[in-house]
Amino acid sequence: MLATRVQSAGEYSLTEKPLLEVKNLKKYYDISQGLFKPKLVVKAVDDISFSINKGETFALVGESGCGKSTTGRTILRLTGATSGEIRYKGQDLLSLQTEKMRSLRKEMQMVFQDPYASLNPKMTIKQILMEPLRVHKKFHPDERLEKIIEILEIVGLSKTHLDRHPNEFSGGQRQRIGIARTVILNPDFIIADEPVSALDVSVQSQVINLMLELQKDFGLTYLFISHDLSVVKHMTDRVAVMYLGKIVELADTEELFSNPKHPYTQALISAIPISHPREAKERIVLKGDVPNPANPPSGCTFHTRCPFVMEMCKSIEPSLTEIVTGHTASCHLYTNNKEEKTNAIIYS
Ligand code: SF4
Repeated sequence: MLATRVQSAGEYSLTEKPLLEVKNLKKYYDISQGLFKPKLVVKAVDDISFSINKGETFALVGESGCGKSTTGRTILRLTGATSGEIRYKGQDLLSLQTEKMRSLRKEMQMVFQDPYASLNPKMTIKQILMEPLRVHKKFHPDERLEKIIEILEIVGLSKTHLDRHPNEFSGGQRQRIGIARTVILNPDFIIADEPVSALDVSVQSQVINLMLELQKDFGLTYLFISHDLSVVKHMTDRVAVMYLGKIVELADTEELFSNPKHPYTQALISAIPISHPREAKERIVLKGDVPNPANPPSGCTFHTRCPFVMEMCKSIEPSLTEIVTGHTASCHLYTNNKEEKTNAIIYS
């Protein structure tokens, strides 16, 4: 039975160590054009560190282009890292041989944003779900069809769907098929990259609830990548906020939403739509767009948009500092330089 996965997931002792550790990860892209042109580098992921414990849902949030999806793809080695360390169950992924990494991929799966683009339109659902089992030699060939029907029922579909093609399903059903294709390999760790943002709001909660149920039944650990903070608030345990390739704040979800420290996080949270007309909330509107990542601002990269910018922010880069236990933020408002803080230039 697929559903017995929880009981058999104890091969690696995770009582002390995180399932995944990311240290000083960098992913830079050289976008220089021509030999005699100045060197241009985009720091898509710039020296980030975090860890994820077994069974938790860890969110990476931020605006489009902040580096959250690149981080996910780099962890799975779908794109190479520039430097840093990624440890999964203690194994250094960046130095693993290709063959070993390929075999590890059945434990580390990805759910994509666009379920339609990630499913081959020419294949039937049976073929789509059979493929990973065949590639990873999972289960005896005689058992595979039974396993496919079992997983279809777990995600809310049935064997009547086996011979249909992806275009015969709704967006929500296609995402269920994408999730089934991921879970059929009995993974421990899933990177979900904007898994519900292409779906109608009415369907989003169904897919989220399915993911939460599967997490409970299969003992899954999620890295949940999203720009939608209302979804993140509902389903994650800890959150890291990214801005221009860096983590600017990291805390437990409840702590982050009730006590955001970084001005960028405060602005993102203030933009969450209110759930009740009587709920009063002051929206912080950020000035301008995200700066060009190939030419980021000096000092604190958020200083061009920050309502609390100080002189020091323009030249000195803040480092991630623990403000209360388990809650870190990189902002000079929380450093000890009182003289600079009293000279604060409030732009708004
Ligand atoms: Fe704003 Fe300065 Fe803090 Fe950056 S360091 S977020 S510019 S107050």
